[in-house]
Amino acid sequence: MIVGVLVEISHQSVDKIFDYRVRDELKDKIKVGIRVEVPFGRQTLEGFVLEIKEDSSLEQLKEINRLMDEEVILTEELIELGKKMQQQTMSTLISCYQAMLPKALKASKNSNVNKKFETFYKLGNVSISKLNETQQKIINLFQDRELIPRKELLAISSSSVKTLLSKKILIEEKKEHYRMSYQEEEYPPIQLTEEQQKVVNQVALDSSNTYLLHGVTGSGKTEVYIKLIEKVLALHKTAMVLVPEISLTMQLISRFERVFGKKIATFHSALSDGERYDEYRRIRRGEVSVVIGARSAVFVPLSNLGLIVIDEEHSDSYKQDHNPRYDAKKIAMERSKMNHFPVVMGSATPSLDSYARAQKKVYQLLQLPNRVNHQSLPKVQIIDMSEELKYGKGHFSRTLIMEMKNTLEKQEQIILLLNRRGYSSFISCKNCAHTIKCPNCDITLTYHKNSNILRCHYCGYGTKMVAECPNCHENSMTPLGVGTEKIEEEVHKIFAGAKILRMDIDTTSRKGSHKKMIESFKNHEYDILLGTQIVAKGLDFPLVTLVGVINADTSLNIPDFRSSENTFDLLSQVSGRSGRGQKSGSVIIQTFNKDHYAIKYAKSHDYVGFYQEEMMIRKCLKYPPFYYLCYLKISSKDDLFAQKESLKIKKALERNLSSMMILGPSPAFLFKINNVYHYSIIIKYKKEENLRDVLALIIDHYKINKNITIQIDFNPTHF
Ligand code: ADP
Ligand code: ZN
Repeated sequence: MIVGVLVEISHQSVDKIFDYRVRDELKDKIKVGIRVEVPFGRQTLEGFVLEIKEDSSLEQLKEINRLMDEEVILTEELIELGKKMQQQTMSTLISCYQAMLPKALKASKNSNVNKKFETFYKLGNVSISKLNETQQKIINLFQDRELIPRKELLAISSSSVKTLLSKKILIEEKKEHYRMSYQEEEYPPIQLTEEQQKVVNQVALDSSNTYLLHGVTGSGKTEVYIKLIEKVLALHKTAMVLVPEISLTMQLISRFERVFGKKIATFHSALSDGERYDEYRRIRRGEVSVVIGARSAVFVPLSNLGLIVIDEEHSDSYKQDHNPRYDAKKIAMERSKMNHFPVVMGSATPSLDSYARAQKKVYQLLQLPNRVNHQSLPKVQIIDMSEELKYGKGHFSRTLIMEMKNTLEKQEQIILLLNRRGYSSFISCKNCAHTIKCPNCDITLTYHKNSNILRCHYCGYGTKMVAECPNCHENSMTPLGVGTEKIEEEVHKIFAGAKILRMDIDTTSRKGSHKKMIESFKNHEYDILLGTQIVAKGLDFPLVTLVGVINADTSLNIPDFRSSENTFDLLSQVSGRSGRGQKSGSVIIQTFNKDHYAIKYAKSHDYVGFYQEEMMIRKCLKYPPFYYLCYLKISSKDDLFAQKESLKIKKALERNLSSMMILGPSPAFLFKINNVYHYSIIIKYKKEENLRDVLALIIDHYKINKNITIQIDFNPTHF
């Protein structure tokens, strides 16, 4: 017997199936999709069995060392998906399979996540011994229970337990123990509104359609998802819900947990490797019928899938921004076609790409144009900050201060958004405008106030904050840019008595802290929730009647053709947090670009208006969704070499892809990182034609050159 094995090394030069012989005693246990340990050159590696056959074209085959699994890890469906994913992303096949699996199940010599066992005791032979009082008490506990956890018995008397064990009156038994637990709760049944019911009825569960649910904020999309899933479960099928990032959707998850209880599994970055492994095994054993998770959850091997829901479908987190650069939405659609079930994607601000497809009837459009509570969407005021600088206090306009005061007096709550993509607190010289950059990365260093250190966000380089400018030698280096800490200080000054909860990456990194914060804000232990993008999405607090956006502009200034779309999304989403309960809400947006169309359409809650204007611009500038983009990144430690090869690649592309626009090469947005230089080439095209063949030739040409790496990103979300 011969097996074809794909080994764990992700490199184009070894990304193929290698044949191995199987010893007789292993033959019965070998299956396609399990992991095996194999000799590979001078190393020992793990790999996946992808083929079983009788003959090989090679003679001199090595033998596999041993089997790593009894049960199949890569199901037939996953094997198939991996091949499609490789075609789509042009990454190595092994990287595609590894991306599908939790760490404990990846092919890797170095993973050591174990099953967690709990020790129990059961009764052995009692009749032979005389027992003292404590011992008898312990034995009596077994009258109505077969197994008792070790902890419970040790608490009574550890010496007695020891004696009973030595006499074999108690026998140890280890039982596998899952690290996660879920609680079903009393959940008052929700009667869907007529609009919601209509949407539910429109979804054909026996189709493989893709639906786009465009529902304004607070229109009750989550209840629609829940009802659809209940219908799917009634058909004895399973369902999957994808969400952007679990920390942004904690409330949604607890809602699902209340409804589906122990039937759900969750999958996200906040879980430990062990927890993920446990969840995965619960799924494989069919103990789970609803899975909720972020991007990579799209691969979980739920059998008998009947529906995939993709919430906040416009989020760029569905696209992986490192190899393999797959799009979870595309993978969901692949699975839908392979197994014949529908995909429902929902958003208050659908991505332009998806909405355009819905217009062309590639996707079916579903709509929830009204809020559940019949409240109108909140009233939005735009404040021109170039005027206000003269009158306001710090970063607060007079209007925002007044509205905040009113809201606090009425005992209602406020959300303040500091629009900060990436890090903006850096230091600069007041005299000569010199900034301090990372010596390895050519990136401005970020100022960390607490530790008084300047740090590189990319490579971790750190240096002490200095007052003297290295350029003009004046004592004039000062922090610029504004962080949530600074805004918090200002709020404290203006509203002395107000209780502020600050939520950002620094304050939420501890596990579980985010959930606690949300609960305490919901219980009105705080008046004001202040944060970055993290407060803009998915939160549902009925008492919030005012949303203030400190600085709408920062996301407009990012050099990315999607910056208007991203800004419109963010403003619409955060506005949607206001007035979700009985009381109507208002929103104040502070900006230096009051006439920008993204801000104007956000003010009037006009998604379709924004869509139409933005589509015209995209058409003129030949951007998606009118053209496809493919982004090539060419990297080397040798700047000159990278430049030279980039030019060669561009020429080759131009020669072979005459119908396409080839832009660049230019220094990448992040040009020098960790002493590696990056150049970018962008290909714009309408039809793919022979693009993939040409790229494959280029990859092949460079695959043995250690001085250069080439990365390919189709439909890039970051530049
Ligand atoms: P969206 O996700 O569209 O922004 P949600 O699903 O969070 O909206 O719903 C907004 C609020 O309305 C939630 O508090 C939810 O519990 C409530 N809700 C949704 N549907 C109904 C309904 N049919 N009847 C009563 N309340 C509802
Ligand atoms: Zn650096």
